[in-house]
Amino acid sequence: MDIKDYKTQELVKKYNFKFSKSLGQNFLIDDSVLNDIVDGADVQEDDLVIEIGPGVGSLTAQLIDKAKKVVSIELDNDLIPILETELGQYENFSLIHNDALKVDFNEIIGEENSVKLVANLPYYVTTPIIVRLLKEGYKFKSLTIMIQKEVAERIDAEPNCKEYGSLSLLVQYYCNTRIIRTVTPSCFIPRPKVDSIVIRLDRLDEPKVKVKDENLMFEIIRNAFNMRRKTLWNGTKFIGMPKEKLLEAYEKAGIDPKRRGETLSLQEFATLSDCVSELR
Ligand code: SAM
Repeated sequence: MDIKDYKTQELVKKYNFKFSKSLGQNFLIDDSVLNDIVDGADVQEDDLVIEIGPGVGSLTAQLIDKAKKVVSIELDNDLIPILETELGQYENFSLIHNDALKVDFNEIIGEENSVKLVANLPYYVTTPIIVRLLKEGYKFKSLTIMIQKEVAERIDAEPNCKEYGSLSLLVQYYCNTRIIRTVTPSCFIPRPKVDSIVIRLDRLDEPKVKVKDENLMFEIIRNAFNMRRKTLWNGTKFIGMPKEKLLEAYEKAGIDPKRRGETLSLQEFATLSDCVSELR
């Protein structure tokens, strides 16, 4: 088979593959979406591409055609022999049978310099996978991922809109974000209930803002959004600091504690965090 003619539906039929809902299995059947993911990821011939969840390998095949090397991580036992049979002959392809939340990405990356992650992510673990890939500091140049529309909108959100929250701030701390396209349920088998979005996260060399204590900043952010309709003061009074000191930190940061979390920019959270860490 020509790798460009790799067809999801034919393979599902050939192997009598049974989809598992609990593994988030919605396979792409639309070539234009596959092309847009590969183009959007800007896959080049010297790239190592790591793919999470290859399914029967439709996106994988396109990646194998473009990249220096493709390493795909698949959890489902039933998909391993299918992928080995259909794609095992390509020397630039290797398969890891494991959970993407447990894999040691540094081991896969090794000395490679141009590393990109490309995936149609299983939706039930989208957020933990993104958080892990960003927080653990792996040297990905970019992550081009298909995720639920609602999660992509949260990632890409600006202050003062309802989607803005701790996920927006976490991703935007590490990356520039760019929406590539929307994908409707008819592009998959079986059809998911919601629209999806392909989004690219370009990892920055340095986080977008400077902050003395990253963990403290994210603790403040989490607290600020825990009680969405309450003021910052209500959310942050739990951070273990006497009331007077916390008020002093707000004053020093020039931030009114009566504001709501969703009105603060990433820079303002960093400034507040630095003032809190100085005074506590
Ligand atoms: N890439 C294929 C496509 O686009 O047609 C399949 C994408 S499907 C949305 C998600 C894939 O991730 C499935 O193959 C599923 O078995 C796999 N998967 C689910 N949980 C996983 C995990 N924790 N680690 C690795 N793969 C996982």
